[in-house]
Amino acid sequence: MKQLLVDKSSGDSIKVKISNIVFGSEDKIIISGPCSVEDYENMIKIARKLKRLGVHMIRGGAFKPRTSPYDFQGLQEEGLKILKQVGCEVQLPVVTEIMDTRDIEMVSGYSDMLQVGSRNMYNYSLLKELGRSKVPVLLKRGMSATLSEWLYAAEYILSFGNPNVVLCERGIRTFETYTRNTLDLNSVAVLKQKYRLPVIVDPSHGTGMKELVPNMCLASIAAGADGLIIESHINPDNAVSDARQTISISSLEKIISKVNKLKEIY
Ligand code: PEP
Ligand code: MN
Repeated sequence: MKQLLVDKSSGDSIKVKISNIVFGSEDKIIISGPCSVEDYENMIKIARKLKRLGVHMIRGGAFKPRTSPYDFQGLQEEGLKILKQVGCEVQLPVVTEIMDTRDIEMVSGYSDMLQVGSRNMYNYSLLKELGRSKVPVLLKRGMSATLSEWLYAAEYILSFGNPNVVLCERGIRTFETYTRNTLDLNSVAVLKQKYRLPVIVDPSHGTGMKELVPNMCLASIAAGADGLIIESHINPDNAVSDARQTISISSLEKIISKVNKLKEIY
């Protein structure tokens, strides 16, 4: 069997750089923002507050993979324009989801990093095309993917020429239905010990419950995560998508201050 590029035996740990941010460094990278880009007004208000908290990157989906075709599908290119505009104004890089190979060029024109969502982790045509491009990729774990399937998905991107891959644990489906997903932090410990790629955690989708997000953020850092991606909003209860798991800016502020303390002992 071929030696996998994601294995530590294939080389040093990989660092992924986006402007002055380095995933896989001493810094714990915090990405935050709403589930979906809703409109310019909300987005800029959120981004300004996040900038003040020292958040490193802004998130916001414009192409939303919704379970029901009748739910809000995202603002599409209009949303990307808003995201880019807001990122430029607050001078922070942005990340958004890519769902279709045909959109890679267009979406990369607006975003510093492309997120492959859980539902697309097995989309091998998308992974190959992202491999051919050199754009940084945030590869979320498929909701039913084993660690090995997730690593092979990353291997697709690396083997097609793009080493700029950050893994994101976002929880898996198990028999437990109390929480939206089961946040598998074992994966973070394993990935950090045995593999080369930076790993961040998404406790928003991992729990589906805003009240659990702060503790699971800290647990993720304790497990060795290189950063976090957290859904936040200035008016979380009115977020257009994923309101139940979206935290307030003040809750995020507390999380960041605790993460900063916790990282000192690692
Ligand atoms: C999201 O980040 O809003 C999202 C849809 O995530 P996931 O693909 O992990 O469900
Ligand atoms: Mn979401």
